Amino acid sequence: MTDAPETCEALIREAARSIGGESPRLDAELLLGQASGWTRTSFRAWPERQPTPGVVAQFRSLVERRIKGEPIAHLLGEQEFWSLRLKVNPSTLIPRPDTECLVEAALALPLPAQAAVLDLGTGTGAIALALASERPDWTIHACDAEAQAVALAGANAAALGLSVKLFQSDWFSRVPPQSYHLIVSNPPYVAESDEHLGQGDVRFEPASALISGPDGLNDIRQILGEAPGRLEPGGWLLVEHGYNQGQAVRTLFTEAGFDYVETRQDYGQRDRFTLGCCNACLNPCPNPGADESNNQGAA
Ligand code: GLN
Repeated sequence: MTDAPETCEALIREAARSIGGESPRLDAELLLGQASGWTRTSFRAWPERQPTPGVVAQFRSLVERRIKGEPIAHLLGEQEFWSLRLKVNPSTLIPRPDTECLVEAALALPLPAQAAVLDLGTGTGAIALALASERPDWTIHACDAEAQAVALAGANAAALGLSVKLFQSDWFSRVPPQSYHLIVSNPPYVAESDEHLGQGDVRFEPASALISGPDGLNDIRQILGEAPGRLEPGGWLLVEHGYNQGQAVRTLFTEAGFDYVETRQDYGQRDRFTLGCCNACLNPCPNPGADESNNQGAA
């Protein structure tokens, strides 16, 4: 410890040294921003500025929690997704940038201007709200099995002024008896023995949002069991999955009766989600992925 005045720059440097990991300086700046209410740019512009002792104490306590591994998103209480600022808490998965690839693909599908859309296992509401922000004329339903997630997604929808109908439902159990032009989901898909469950942010996220049986595919099987009966003819299903589950998920889609099936990659070029269409001839996919080896069935 030193008796030197605690300037922003000194506090950030000291914290970054103890935080370590991939982006220690960024983490420290974000946490000082959270404690002080000052912007990150201000730390560059006025590095000598001195926060009050109360702010310093609050910053140090956030840094301690970060050192123990708590996700930055939990410490800040928010995460950006598709340029939307979403509130997050430990009751749901923290939205990942890779899921934006699924949103982008959904927006490129040949869907009616007033499509009926369902987001299964919405969590913070990330996918549903991103779609609502781009397609105000779609009717978007979103559900989650956890009441706390439904409340969080509702708070996010209200804060963003976006219209999504939210309800509690364990997959299709309480979904209204209607069909959809598009069903999307980022379900739990991690195998229960996966070693990465012991590392990083996932340690602080609910198992119910991550883990899905011995091969990680239990929930995707359940979704595929009912989705074809809930799609309009020519409707689409998009499901996120693990980088090593593409082949298995394509097989499940085909077995469920989808006749156009394709896996696409995330920003890191890893398999990340599979899309399928029943009665594909009614609605040919306009934008097939470049890698033909990922395609199965009629296209
Ligand atoms: N992609 C997440 C991870 O980092 C898992 C998300 C999920 O199970 N839906 O492990």
